[in-house]
Amino acid sequence: MSELEDARQNLEEALNAIGKEEYYDHLKHPERFVEVNFPVSMDDGSKKVFTGYRSQHSTVRGPGKGGIRFSPNVNEEEVKALSIWMSLKCAVADIPYGGAKGGVIVDTEEISHAEEERLSRRYIDAIAEVIGVNHDVPAPDMNTTSKHMAWMMDEYSSDNREHRPGVITGKPVEAFGSEGRDVATGYGAAYVIERIIEDENLNPDELTAAIQGFGNAASPAVKKLIDMGVNVVAVSDHIGATYNENGFTREELTSCDNDPGIVCKAGEDLENGELLELEVDFLVPAAIENVITEENADNVSADYVVEIANGPTTREADEILEEKDITMVPGILANSGGVTVSYYEWVQNRTGEYWTKEEVLERLRENIQNAYEQFRQVQEEEDVYGRQAAYIMGARKIVEALESREYM
Ligand code: GLU
Repeated sequence: MSELEDARQNLEEALNAIGKEEYYDHLKHPERFVEVNFPVSMDDGSKKVFTGYRSQHSTVRGPGKGGIRFSPNVNEEEVKALSIWMSLKCAVADIPYGGAKGGVIVDTEEISHAEEERLSRRYIDAIAEVIGVNHDVPAPDMNTTSKHMAWMMDEYSSDNREHRPGVITGKPVEAFGSEGRDVATGYGAAYVIERIIEDENLNPDELTAAIQGFGNAASPAVKKLIDMGVNVVAVSDHIGATYNENGFTREELTSCDNDPGIVCKAGEDLENGELLELEVDFLVPAAIENVITEENADNVSADYVVEIANGPTTREADEILEEKDITMVPGILANSGGVTVSYYEWVQNRTGEYWTKEEVLERLRENIQNAYEQFRQVQEEEDVYGRQAAYIMGARKIVEALESREYM
């Protein structure tokens, strides 16, 4: 099943569950989808044409919001699916945004730093007509960072002959970004785990966690969980995983001279796949999509799966986890910390008043823990599995916003 079919099916099921299936035809398509083809000057003097997209799924709850990814695998269907998930995610996180997503088909390993800057600037020029502080606000996603956001903000502002920091979020703090945005996705997931621990009256010292990934989202989550006293027994990167049954310290994972995103192999060697099957309390897939599939779901031995990656569990695997009674906190809730702090960044840009890191993180903690509470309620009231509960929660808020405009 393609990602778009998957996103549509999730949406349709959620609308059916709340008796609002008549909105499916409206919500299965993005409100607007643009394809752009733009030339970039390469270092050798030649010009190369790149293709990019921006999908604005829904703006009924506020401006479109969602990242821009650079990847050779970017395609029309994927960008549309990701924009549907962003609408649902912003609704679940209860921030006043719709959903959008963008992408450029490019392998960043194959272009130079200077080419990447020119590509970022040309892409934002190409979509400039459809984005804007009050229309659609992009942000980082796969293979894009605060540096790309700074180039894009700069380009958009120069074209408009005025300072427009609020057109894009996830910028460096030195270029009107928000304190705490860099750790927000990982910390958000850790705050969800903190609430589970409180609700279930658990003792962090007796709990274990395995995290797949050590990149921008995963590594702050690892550090926060260790600070909370949870035993992080396994961590991985794209090369492999490392395991210590007694749990790692922060230093053990970060003190070697590895590149950011590469974990120090401080414990026993493990295969990435073995990490997913460890007997732990919390399994946190935080790297790429489709890693828990019908092939390995039966071997997942965690009590909770808390998703930081977008779409790490396939539909079929989700059903197996449900049968195994594993508690699922889906990505549209557990990874919503990033977009929530993007919203705080946008508010700060619009008001010109800047908050401290403590203030940002305290707001994030309260917001994501409230969302988790509501999610638990929906799960109980509707008697559904985690994934459905989150989709129902998001779909309900989008439909309420649509219905609030209808004449009586
Ligand atoms: N790309 C991130 C996501 O998938 C962040 C989006 C944003 O901050 O707008 O949630």
